[in-house]
Amino acid sequence: MNELITTLRDIVGPAQVLTHDDPATDLSAWEQDWRKRSHGRALAVVRPGRTAEVAAVVKACAAAGVSIVPQGGNTGLVVGAVPDDSGTQVVLSLTRMNAVRTIDGDNLTMTVEAGCVLQMLQEAAEKAGFLFPLSLAAEGSCTIGGNLATNAGGTQVVRYGNARELCLGLEVVTAQGEIWNGLSGLRKDNTGYDLRDLFVGSEGTLGVITAATMKLYPLPAAQLTAWAAVPSLEAAVQLLGLAHRHLGAGLTGFEVMGQFALSLVAKHFPQQRVPLWADHPYCVLLENSDSESEDHARGQFERLLETAFENGVVSDAVVAESLQQAHALWHIRESIPLAQAEEGLNIKHDISIPVSKIPAFCAETDALLRREIPGVRLVNFGHLGDGNLHYNVQAPEGGDPAAFLREQEERVNHLVFDQVARFEGSISAEHGIGGLKVDTLPAYKDPVALALMRSIRQALDPQNILNPGRVLR
Ligand code: FAD
Repeated sequence: MNELITTLRDIVGPAQVLTHDDPATDLSAWEQDWRKRSHGRALAVVRPGRTAEVAAVVKACAAAGVSIVPQGGNTGLVVGAVPDDSGTQVVLSLTRMNAVRTIDGDNLTMTVEAGCVLQMLQEAAEKAGFLFPLSLAAEGSCTIGGNLATNAGGTQVVRYGNARELCLGLEVVTAQGEIWNGLSGLRKDNTGYDLRDLFVGSEGTLGVITAATMKLYPLPAAQLTAWAAVPSLEAAVQLLGLAHRHLGAGLTGFEVMGQFALSLVAKHFPQQRVPLWADHPYCVLLENSDSESEDHARGQFERLLETAFENGVVSDAVVAESLQQAHALWHIRESIPLAQAEEGLNIKHDISIPVSKIPAFCAETDALLRREIPGVRLVNFGHLGDGNLHYNVQAPEGGDPAAFLREQEERVNHLVFDQVARFEGSISAEHGIGGLKVDTLPAYKDPVALALMRSIRQALDPQNILNPGRVLR
Protein backbone atom coordinates (compact mmCIF):
# COMPACT_ATOMS: atom_id res chain seq x y z
CA MET A 1 0.00 0.00 0.00
CA ASN A 2 2.91 2.33 0.69
CA GLU A 3 3.85 2.01 -2.96
CA LEU A 4 0.34 3.10 -4.03
CA ILE A 5 0.41 6.10 -1.65
CA THR A 6 3.76 7.16 -3.14
CA THR A 7 2.33 6.86 -6.67
CA LEU A 8 -0.77 8.86 -5.71
CA ARG A 9 1.45 11.58 -4.17
CA ASP A 10 3.44 11.71 -7.41
CA ILE A 11 0.21 12.19 -9.39
CA VAL A 12 -1.60 14.88 -7.36
CA GLY A 13 1.18 16.30 -5.19
CA PRO A 14 2.03 15.25 -1.61
CA ALA A 15 -0.29 17.79 0.05
CA GLN A 16 -3.33 16.36 -1.74
CA VAL A 17 -3.04 12.82 -0.37
CA LEU A 18 -4.22 12.64 3.23
CA THR A 19 -3.70 9.51 5.35
CA HIS A 20 -3.99 8.39 8.95
CA ASP A 21 -0.20 8.07 9.10
CA ASP A 22 -0.05 11.76 9.95
CA PRO A 23 -1.62 12.03 13.43
CA ALA A 24 -2.29 15.74 12.89
CA THR A 25 -4.64 15.01 9.99
CA ASP A 26 -8.32 14.50 10.80
CA LEU A 27 -10.12 12.62 8.02
CA SER A 28 -13.53 12.45 9.68
CA ALA A 29 -15.05 15.08 7.34
CA TRP A 30 -14.51 12.60 4.47
CA GLU A 31 -15.17 9.42 6.44
CA GLN A 32 -18.47 10.28 8.10
CA ASP A 33 -21.72 10.79 6.22
CA TRP A 34 -23.99 13.82 6.65
CA ARG A 35 -26.55 11.99 8.78
CA LYS A 36 -23.79 10.42 10.91
CA ARG A 37 -25.14 6.98 10.12
CA SER A 38 -21.77 5.63 9.06
CA HIS A 39 -18.19 6.41 10.00
CA GLY A 40 -15.71 4.46 7.87
CA ARG A 41 -11.94 4.44 7.67
CA ALA A 42 -10.13 5.41 4.47
CA LEU A 43 -6.75 4.23 3.27
CA ALA A 44 -6.31 7.75 1.92
CA VAL A 45 -8.23 10.82 0.80
CA VAL A 46 -6.98 11.94 -2.62
CA ARG A 47 -7.79 15.38 -4.01
CA PRO A 48 -6.98 15.74 -7.71
CA GLY A 49 -7.12 19.14 -9.39
CA ARG A 50 -7.46 18.07 -13.05
CA THR A 51 -9.19 15.40 -15.12
CA ALA A 52 -5.86 13.87 -16.17
CA GLU A 53 -4.99 13.44 -12.48
CA VAL A 54 -8.32 11.70 -11.81
CA ALA A 55 -7.58 9.32 -14.69
CA ALA A 56 -4.08 8.57 -13.37
CA VAL A 57 -5.40 8.02 -9.82
CA VAL A 58 -8.05 5.57 -11.07
CA LYS A 59 -5.44 3.70 -13.16
CA ALA A 60 -3.07 3.45 -10.19
CA CYS A 61 -5.80 2.21 -7.84
CA ALA A 62 -7.06 -0.30 -10.43
CA ALA A 63 -3.52 -1.63 -10.91
CA ALA A 64 -3.19 -2.04 -7.13
CA GLY A 65 -6.67 -3.59 -6.82
CA VAL A 66 -7.76 -0.81 -4.46
CA SER A 67 -11.34 0.42 -4.65
CA ILE A 68 -12.36 4.06 -4.93
CA VAL A 69 -15.23 6.00 -3.37
CA PRO A 70 -15.93 9.18 -5.37
CA GLN A 71 -17.01 12.06 -3.15
CA GLY A 72 -18.34 15.57 -3.78
CA GLY A 73 -19.83 17.64 -0.96
CA ASN A 74 -20.65 14.54 1.13
CA THR A 75 -24.24 15.70 1.65
CA GLY A 76 -25.77 12.49 0.29
CA LEU A 77 -28.36 10.88 2.55
CA VAL A 78 -27.91 7.17 1.73
CA VAL A 79 -24.33 6.40 2.83
CA GLY A 80 -22.92 6.43 -0.70
CA ALA A 81 -19.91 8.76 -0.52
CA VAL A 82 -18.00 7.50 2.52
CA PRO A 83 -15.58 4.56 2.75
CA ASP A 84 -16.37 1.30 4.51
CA ASP A 85 -14.50 0.52 7.73
CA SER A 86 -11.84 -1.72 6.14
CA GLY A 87 -9.21 1.03 5.88
CA THR A 88 -8.48 -0.17 2.33
CA GLN A 89 -10.52 2.26 0.18
CA VAL A 90 -9.41 5.51 -1.40
CA VAL A 91 -11.81 8.45 -1.11
CA LEU A 92 -11.53 10.43 -4.34
CA SER A 93 -12.63 13.96 -3.43
CA LEU A 94 -13.53 16.11 -6.45
CA THR A 95 -13.89 19.42 -4.60
CA ARG A 96 -10.67 20.95 -5.94
CA MET A 97 -12.04 20.63 -9.48
CA ASN A 98 -14.27 23.68 -9.19
CA ALA A 99 -13.81 25.77 -12.33
CA VAL A 100 -16.58 27.06 -14.58
CA ARG A 101 -14.94 26.23 -17.91
CA THR A 102 -17.29 28.11 -20.26
CA ILE A 103 -20.65 29.83 -20.43
CA ASP A 104 -22.20 29.82 -23.91
CA GLY A 105 -25.06 32.32 -23.82
CA ASP A 106 -26.31 31.64 -27.36
CA ASN A 107 -26.39 27.90 -26.75
CA LEU A 108 -27.83 28.42 -23.25
CA THR A 109 -25.25 26.13 -21.65
CA MET A 110 -22.41 26.19 -19.16
CA THR A 111 -19.61 23.67 -18.89
CA VAL A 112 -18.41 23.18 -15.36
CA GLU A 113 -16.13 20.92 -13.34
CA ALA A 114 -17.60 18.26 -11.10
CA GLY A 115 -16.47 19.80 -7.81
CA CYS A 116 -18.29 23.12 -8.33
CA VAL A 117 -20.62 23.79 -5.42
CA LEU A 118 -24.21 24.07 -6.67
CA GLN A 119 -24.80 27.52 -5.18
CA MET A 120 -21.66 28.81 -6.87
CA LEU A 121 -23.07 27.65 -10.22
CA GLN A 122 -26.39 29.35 -9.58
CA GLU A 123 -24.48 32.57 -8.83
CA ALA A 124 -22.17 32.23 -11.86
CA ALA A 125 -25.19 31.72 -14.12
CA GLU A 126 -27.02 34.71 -12.61
CA LYS A 127 -23.95 36.92 -13.01
CA ALA A 128 -23.95 36.05 -16.71
CA GLY A 129 -27.69 36.90 -16.90
CA PHE A 130 -29.09 33.36 -16.81
CA LEU A 131 -30.90 30.98 -14.52
CA PHE A 132 -29.47 27.63 -13.48
CA PRO A 133 -32.57 26.18 -11.86
CA LEU A 134 -31.33 23.16 -9.88
CA SER A 135 -32.02 24.05 -6.25
CA LEU A 136 -32.00 22.06 -3.00
CA ALA A 137 -31.45 22.73 0.68
CA ALA A 138 -27.87 21.39 0.57
CA GLU A 139 -26.90 23.73 -2.32
CA GLY A 140 -24.31 25.57 -0.21
CA SER A 141 -22.15 22.44 0.01
CA CYS A 142 -23.27 19.77 -2.50
CA THR A 143 -21.41 19.63 -5.83
CA ILE A 144 -22.69 19.34 -9.38
CA GLY A 145 -20.79 16.04 -9.75
CA GLY A 146 -22.67 14.66 -6.73
CA ASN A 147 -25.94 16.13 -8.04
CA LEU A 148 -25.47 14.30 -11.33
CA ALA A 149 -24.23 11.09 -9.73
CA THR A 150 -27.42 11.01 -7.62
CA ASN A 151 -29.70 12.58 -10.27
CA ALA A 152 -30.70 15.15 -7.65
CA GLY A 153 -34.18 16.67 -7.75
CA GLY A 154 -34.98 19.53 -5.41
CA THR A 155 -37.61 22.23 -5.48
CA GLN A 156 -37.81 23.17 -9.18
CA VAL A 157 -38.37 19.75 -10.77
CA VAL A 158 -42.02 20.43 -11.53
CA ARG A 159 -40.85 22.92 -14.20
CA TYR A 160 -37.21 22.09 -15.08
CA GLY A 161 -36.82 18.37 -14.28
CA ASN A 162 -34.16 16.51 -12.30
CA ALA A 163 -30.39 16.95 -12.71
CA ARG A 164 -30.65 14.44 -15.59
CA GLU A 165 -32.97 16.71 -17.60
CA LEU A 166 -30.64 19.67 -17.02
CA CYS A 167 -27.56 17.86 -18.30
CA LEU A 168 -26.52 17.86 -21.97
CA GLY A 169 -23.07 16.32 -21.74
CA LEU A 170 -20.51 14.72 -19.44
CA GLU A 171 -16.81 14.16 -19.11
CA VAL A 172 -16.19 10.87 -17.30
CA VAL A 173 -13.16 8.89 -16.15
CA THR A 174 -13.95 5.21 -16.63
CA ALA A 175 -13.07 2.41 -14.22
CA GLN A 176 -10.07 1.69 -16.46
CA GLY A 177 -8.81 5.26 -16.09
CA GLU A 178 -9.78 6.37 -19.61
CA ILE A 179 -11.29 9.80 -20.23
CA TRP A 180 -14.59 9.93 -22.15
CA ASN A 181 -15.14 13.42 -23.50
CA GLY A 182 -18.89 13.67 -23.92
CA LEU A 183 -19.15 17.38 -23.18
CA SER A 184 -21.50 18.11 -26.01
CA GLY A 185 -23.86 21.01 -25.69
CA LEU A 186 -26.19 19.33 -28.18
CA ARG A 187 -29.90 19.10 -27.55
CA LYS A 188 -30.24 16.51 -30.29
CA ASP A 189 -27.80 13.62 -30.77
CA ASN A 190 -29.16 10.23 -31.75
CA THR A 191 -25.91 8.40 -32.44
CA GLY A 192 -26.47 5.26 -30.43
CA TYR A 193 -26.80 4.43 -26.75
CA ASP A 194 -27.11 7.36 -24.37
CA LEU A 195 -24.00 7.01 -22.20
CA ARG A 196 -24.71 10.28 -20.41
CA ASP A 197 -27.95 8.91 -19.03
CA LEU A 198 -26.13 5.79 -17.87
CA PHE A 199 -23.68 7.73 -15.71
CA VAL A 200 -26.27 10.17 -14.36
CA GLY A 201 -27.75 8.55 -11.24
CA SER A 202 -25.10 5.80 -11.10
CA GLU A 203 -23.89 6.97 -7.65
CA GLY A 204 -20.20 6.64 -8.44
CA THR A 205 -20.44 2.98 -9.44
CA LEU A 206 -19.91 3.23 -13.22
CA GLY A 207 -17.45 6.11 -13.66
CA VAL A 208 -16.13 9.31 -12.10
CA ILE A 209 -17.85 12.43 -13.44
CA THR A 210 -15.22 15.14 -13.87
CA ALA A 211 -17.17 17.81 -15.79
CA ALA A 212 -20.61 18.47 -17.24
CA THR A 213 -22.39 20.69 -19.73
CA MET A 214 -25.59 21.96 -18.12
CA LYS A 215 -28.63 23.81 -19.51
CA LEU A 216 -29.24 27.47 -18.71
CA TYR A 217 -32.53 29.38 -18.90
CA PRO A 218 -33.48 33.05 -19.17
CA LEU A 219 -33.85 34.70 -15.78
CA PRO A 220 -37.54 35.15 -14.94
CA ALA A 221 -38.80 38.75 -14.78
CA ALA A 222 -40.55 37.97 -11.49
CA GLN A 223 -40.70 35.17 -8.97
CA LEU A 224 -43.58 35.10 -6.51
CA THR A 225 -44.19 32.75 -3.62
CA ALA A 226 -47.50 31.91 -1.96
CA TRP A 227 -48.21 29.92 1.20
CA ALA A 228 -51.64 28.29 1.32
CA ALA A 229 -53.37 26.28 4.03
CA VAL A 230 -55.43 23.39 2.65
CA PRO A 231 -58.06 21.26 4.41
CA SER A 232 -56.65 17.91 3.26
CA LEU A 233 -54.11 16.19 1.01
CA GLU A 234 -56.89 15.64 -1.54
CA ALA A 235 -57.30 19.44 -1.61
CA ALA A 236 -53.53 19.87 -2.04
CA VAL A 237 -53.66 17.62 -5.13
CA GLN A 238 -56.63 19.60 -6.49
CA LEU A 239 -54.71 22.83 -5.89
CA LEU A 240 -51.80 21.39 -7.88
CA GLY A 241 -54.15 20.73 -10.81
CA LEU A 242 -55.51 24.30 -10.61
CA ALA A 243 -51.95 25.69 -10.38
CA HIS A 244 -50.93 23.81 -13.55
CA ARG A 245 -53.94 25.24 -15.38
CA HIS A 246 -53.59 28.83 -14.12
CA LEU A 247 -49.80 29.21 -14.12
CA GLY A 248 -48.72 26.85 -16.93
CA ALA A 249 -44.93 26.80 -17.27
CA GLY A 250 -44.78 29.54 -14.59
CA LEU A 251 -45.36 26.92 -11.89
CA THR A 252 -41.80 26.31 -10.67
CA GLY A 253 -42.40 25.00 -7.17
CA PHE A 254 -45.14 23.10 -5.35
CA GLU A 255 -44.25 21.78 -1.90
CA VAL A 256 -46.53 20.26 0.70
CA MET A 257 -45.87 20.31 4.45
CA GLY A 258 -47.83 18.39 7.08
CA GLN A 259 -48.90 20.02 10.34
CA PHE A 260 -46.52 17.97 12.53
CA ALA A 261 -43.54 18.74 10.25
CA LEU A 262 -44.28 22.48 10.59
CA SER A 263 -44.83 22.18 14.35
CA LEU A 264 -41.23 20.88 14.62
CA VAL A 265 -39.92 24.00 12.84
CA ALA A 266 -42.02 26.21 15.14
CA LYS A 267 -40.69 24.31 18.17
CA HIS A 268 -36.98 24.14 17.30
CA PHE A 269 -36.60 27.41 15.36
CA PRO A 270 -39.06 29.78 17.11
CA GLN A 271 -37.39 32.78 15.45
CA GLN A 272 -38.92 31.58 12.15
CA ARG A 273 -42.55 32.66 12.01
CA VAL A 274 -44.41 29.69 10.50
CA PRO A 275 -47.73 30.93 9.07
CA LEU A 276 -51.11 29.19 9.34
CA TRP A 277 -49.80 25.80 10.47
CA ALA A 278 -51.55 25.49 13.82
CA ASP A 279 -55.11 25.37 12.46
CA HIS A 280 -54.68 23.36 9.26
CA PRO A 281 -53.57 19.78 8.51
CA TYR A 282 -51.39 20.76 5.54
CA CYS A 283 -49.79 23.86 4.06
CA VAL A 284 -48.54 24.26 0.50
CA LEU A 285 -45.76 26.46 -0.84
CA LEU A 286 -46.20 27.57 -4.44
CA GLU A 287 -43.80 29.46 -6.67
CA ASN A 288 -44.75 31.31 -9.85
CA SER A 289 -41.90 32.40 -12.14
CA ASP A 290 -43.07 34.84 -14.75
CA SER A 291 -41.38 36.04 -17.91
CA GLU A 292 -43.53 39.25 -18.13
CA SER A 293 -43.68 41.20 -14.86
CA GLU A 294 -44.40 41.04 -11.16
CA ASP A 295 -47.89 42.52 -11.71
CA HIS A 296 -48.68 39.80 -14.20
CA ALA A 297 -47.43 37.09 -11.81
CA ARG A 298 -49.42 38.58 -8.91
CA GLY A 299 -52.58 38.74 -11.05
CA GLN A 300 -52.17 35.07 -12.01
CA PHE A 301 -51.68 34.09 -8.37
CA GLU A 302 -54.75 36.07 -7.29
CA ARG A 303 -56.96 34.39 -9.91
CA LEU A 304 -55.63 30.97 -8.94
CA LEU A 305 -56.24 31.51 -5.23
CA GLU A 306 -59.72 33.01 -5.84
CA THR A 307 -60.75 29.92 -7.78
CA ALA A 308 -59.19 27.68 -5.11
CA PHE A 309 -61.09 29.50 -2.30
CA GLU A 310 -64.36 29.25 -4.24
CA ASN A 311 -63.87 25.50 -4.66
CA GLY A 312 -63.01 24.95 -1.00
CA VAL A 313 -59.53 23.79 -1.98
CA VAL A 314 -57.72 26.49 0.00
CA SER A 315 -58.68 27.57 3.54
CA ASP A 316 -56.31 30.52 3.93
CA ALA A 317 -53.33 31.95 2.03
CA VAL A 318 -50.63 34.61 1.98
CA VAL A 319 -48.62 35.85 -0.99
CA ALA A 320 -45.11 37.06 -0.16
CA GLU A 321 -44.83 40.84 -0.57
CA SER A 322 -41.08 40.89 -1.10
CA LEU A 323 -38.20 38.65 -2.11
CA GLN A 324 -37.12 38.66 1.53
CA GLN A 325 -40.51 37.33 2.63
CA ALA A 326 -40.39 34.70 -0.11
CA HIS A 327 -36.96 33.56 1.08
CA ALA A 328 -38.26 33.36 4.65
CA LEU A 329 -41.12 31.10 3.52
CA TRP A 330 -38.75 28.82 1.58
CA HIS A 331 -36.41 28.79 4.55
CA ILE A 332 -39.21 27.32 6.68
CA ARG A 333 -39.68 24.50 4.18
CA GLU A 334 -35.94 23.87 4.02
CA SER A 335 -35.68 23.84 7.82
CA ILE A 336 -37.94 20.81 8.21
CA PRO A 337 -35.11 18.21 7.91
CA LEU A 338 -33.01 20.23 10.37
CA ALA A 339 -35.91 20.52 12.82
CA GLN A 340 -36.40 16.77 12.54
CA ALA A 341 -32.73 16.20 13.31
CA GLU A 342 -33.13 18.44 16.39
CA GLU A 343 -36.08 16.33 17.51
CA GLY A 344 -33.92 13.19 17.28
CA LEU A 345 -32.87 10.39 14.95
CA ASN A 346 -35.69 9.33 12.65
CA ILE A 347 -36.48 6.85 9.91
CA LYS A 348 -36.46 8.60 6.53
CA HIS A 349 -38.31 7.54 3.39
CA ASP A 350 -37.83 9.46 0.17
CA ILE A 351 -40.57 7.94 -1.94
CA SER A 352 -42.52 8.74 -5.06
CA ILE A 353 -46.10 7.78 -5.82
CA PRO A 354 -48.29 8.87 -8.74
CA VAL A 355 -49.67 12.24 -7.57
CA SER A 356 -53.27 11.06 -7.93
CA LYS A 357 -52.66 8.21 -5.45
CA ILE A 358 -50.84 10.19 -2.74
CA PRO A 359 -53.88 10.98 -0.56
CA ALA A 360 -54.96 7.32 -0.45
CA PHE A 361 -51.37 6.18 0.16
CA CYS A 362 -50.98 8.54 3.12
CA ALA A 363 -54.40 7.75 4.63
CA GLU A 364 -53.73 4.00 4.52
CA THR A 365 -50.07 4.11 5.54
CA ASP A 366 -50.63 6.60 8.39
CA ALA A 367 -53.36 4.33 9.80
CA LEU A 368 -51.21 1.21 9.37
CA LEU A 369 -48.20 2.67 11.17
CA ARG A 370 -50.29 4.12 13.99
CA ARG A 371 -51.93 0.74 14.48
CA GLU A 372 -48.65 -1.20 14.42
CA ILE A 373 -46.57 1.23 16.50
CA PRO A 374 -48.77 3.15 18.93
CA GLY A 375 -47.65 6.75 19.48
CA VAL A 376 -45.50 6.91 16.37
CA ARG A 377 -45.13 10.44 14.96
CA LEU A 378 -45.30 10.96 11.18
CA VAL A 379 -43.42 13.78 9.51
CA ASN A 380 -44.81 14.20 6.03
CA PHE A 381 -43.60 16.84 3.58
CA GLY A 382 -42.06 17.12 0.14
CA HIS A 383 -42.21 17.91 -3.53
CA LEU A 384 -45.89 17.14 -4.13
CA GLY A 385 -45.67 18.63 -7.63
CA ASP A 386 -43.40 15.68 -8.55
CA GLY A 387 -45.24 13.04 -6.51
CA ASN A 388 -42.24 12.93 -4.16
CA LEU A 389 -42.84 12.69 -0.43
CA HIS A 390 -40.43 12.66 2.46
CA TYR A 391 -42.47 10.28 4.56
CA ASN A 392 -40.49 10.15 7.79
CA VAL A 393 -41.16 8.35 11.02
CA GLN A 394 -40.19 9.77 14.39
CA ALA A 395 -40.12 7.91 17.73
CA PRO A 396 -43.13 8.33 20.05
CA GLU A 397 -42.98 11.44 22.26
CA GLY A 398 -40.52 10.93 25.11
CA GLY A 399 -39.11 7.72 23.56
CA ASP A 400 -35.40 7.11 22.94
CA PRO A 401 -34.86 7.91 19.23
CA ALA A 402 -31.69 5.76 18.96
CA ALA A 403 -33.44 2.74 20.47
CA PHE A 404 -36.46 3.36 18.25
CA LEU A 405 -34.23 3.32 15.18
CA ARG A 406 -32.42 0.17 16.31
CA GLU A 407 -35.57 -1.74 17.14
CA GLN A 408 -38.06 -0.49 14.57
CA GLU A 409 -36.26 0.67 11.43
CA GLU A 410 -36.41 -2.60 9.53
CA ARG A 411 -40.04 -3.22 10.39
CA VAL A 412 -41.09 0.35 9.57
CA ASN A 413 -39.23 0.22 6.25
CA HIS A 414 -41.02 -3.00 5.35
CA LEU A 415 -44.42 -1.58 6.17
CA VAL A 416 -43.82 1.64 4.24
CA PHE A 417 -42.07 0.10 1.22
CA ASP A 418 -44.73 -2.61 0.84
CA GLN A 419 -47.30 0.16 0.73
CA VAL A 420 -45.18 2.06 -1.82
CA ALA A 421 -45.11 -1.07 -4.00
CA ARG A 422 -48.87 -1.53 -3.66
CA PHE A 423 -49.37 2.06 -4.87
CA GLU A 424 -46.92 1.54 -7.79
CA GLY A 425 -44.34 3.95 -6.43
CA SER A 426 -40.57 4.01 -5.99
CA ILE A 427 -38.67 3.44 -2.72
CA SER A 428 -36.16 6.14 -3.73
CA ALA A 429 -37.38 9.25 -5.52
CA GLU A 430 -34.29 11.44 -5.14
CA HIS A 431 -31.64 10.30 -2.70
CA GLY A 432 -30.61 7.06 -4.39
CA ILE A 433 -29.71 3.65 -3.04
CA GLY A 434 -26.14 4.05 -1.75
CA GLY A 435 -25.18 1.60 0.97
CA LEU A 436 -28.31 2.28 3.01
CA LYS A 437 -30.87 0.66 0.71
CA VAL A 438 -28.66 -1.75 -1.20
CA ASP A 439 -30.14 -4.77 0.56
CA THR A 440 -33.69 -3.45 0.26
CA LEU A 441 -33.62 -2.75 -3.47
CA PRO A 442 -33.87 -6.37 -4.74
CA ALA A 443 -37.23 -6.85 -3.00
CA TYR A 444 -38.79 -3.89 -4.82
CA LYS A 445 -37.01 -3.59 -8.18
CA ASP A 446 -38.15 -5.49 -11.23
CA PRO A 447 -35.88 -8.58 -11.48
CA VAL A 448 -35.20 -8.05 -15.18
CA ALA A 449 -34.16 -4.44 -14.49
CA LEU A 450 -31.87 -5.63 -11.69
CA ALA A 451 -30.22 -8.21 -13.96
CA LEU A 452 -29.67 -5.57 -16.66
CA MET A 453 -28.16 -3.23 -14.07
CA ARG A 454 -25.75 -5.98 -12.95
CA SER A 455 -24.71 -6.63 -16.57
CA ILE A 456 -24.02 -2.94 -17.13
CA ARG A 457 -21.95 -2.70 -13.98
CA GLN A 458 -20.00 -5.84 -14.88
CA ALA A 459 -19.33 -4.48 -18.39
CA LEU A 460 -18.15 -1.06 -17.24
CA ASP A 461 -16.32 -2.02 -14.05
CA PRO A 462 -15.44 -5.73 -14.18
CA GLN A 463 -12.87 -5.30 -11.39
CA ASN A 464 -15.55 -3.77 -9.11
CA ILE A 465 -13.22 -0.87 -8.30
CA LEU A 466 -15.77 1.96 -8.19
CA ASN A 467 -17.84 2.33 -5.03
CA PRO A 468 -18.32 -1.41 -4.38
CA GLY A 469 -21.27 -2.40 -2.21
CA ARG A 470 -23.30 0.62 -3.28
CA VAL A 471 -26.48 0.42 -5.41
CA LEU A 472 -25.85 -3.31 -6.12
CA ARG A 473 -24.03 -6.03 -4.20
P1 FAD B 1 -21.89 13.24 -2.24
O1 FAD B 1 -22.72 13.11 -1.04
O2 FAD B 1 -20.46 13.54 -2.05
O3 FAD B 1 -22.01 11.88 -3.10
C1 FAD B 1 -23.27 11.32 -3.39
C2 FAD B 1 -23.08 10.09 -4.30
O4 FAD B 1 -22.55 10.51 -5.56
C3 FAD B 1 -22.08 9.07 -3.77
O5 FAD B 1 -22.50 7.80 -4.18
C4 FAD B 1 -20.77 9.44 -4.44
O6 FAD B 1 -19.91 8.33 -4.58
C5 FAD B 1 -21.26 9.94 -5.80
N1 FAD B 1 -20.43 10.99 -6.38
C6 FAD B 1 -20.17 12.22 -5.87
N2 FAD B 1 -19.45 12.94 -6.74
C7 FAD B 1 -19.23 12.15 -7.82
C8 FAD B 1 -18.55 12.33 -9.05
N3 FAD B 1 -17.95 13.47 -9.36
N4 FAD B 1 -18.54 11.29 -9.92
C9 FAD B 1 -19.15 10.12 -9.63
N5 FAD B 1 -19.81 9.90 -8.49
C10 FAD B 1 -19.85 10.91 -7.60
N6 FAD B 1 -31.22 15.54 -2.73
C11 FAD B 1 -32.18 15.74 -3.66
O7 FAD B 1 -32.16 15.10 -4.71
N7 FAD B 1 -33.17 16.68 -3.47
C12 FAD B 1 -33.25 17.42 -2.36
O8 FAD B 1 -34.16 18.23 -2.22
C13 FAD B 1 -32.25 17.22 -1.35
N8 FAD B 1 -32.28 17.95 -0.23
C14 FAD B 1 -31.29 17.77 0.70
C15 FAD B 1 -31.31 18.55 1.86
C16 FAD B 1 -30.32 18.41 2.82
C17 FAD B 1 -30.35 19.26 4.05
C18 FAD B 1 -29.28 17.45 2.63
C19 FAD B 1 -28.18 17.28 3.61
C20 FAD B 1 -29.26 16.68 1.48
C21 FAD B 1 -30.27 16.81 0.52
N9 FAD B 1 -30.28 16.04 -0.64
C22 FAD B 1 -31.23 16.24 -1.59
C23 FAD B 1 -29.27 14.98 -0.84
C24 FAD B 1 -27.93 15.49 -1.41
O9 FAD B 1 -27.71 16.81 -1.16
C25 FAD B 1 -27.88 15.23 -2.89
O10 FAD B 1 -27.90 13.84 -3.09
C26 FAD B 1 -26.65 15.83 -3.61
O11 FAD B 1 -26.90 15.69 -4.99
C27 FAD B 1 -25.34 15.14 -3.27
O12 FAD B 1 -24.25 15.92 -3.76
P2 FAD B 1 -22.83 15.82 -3.08
O13 FAD B 1 -21.86 16.60 -3.90
O14 FAD B 1 -22.89 16.15 -1.65
O15 FAD B 1 -22.52 14.25 -3.28
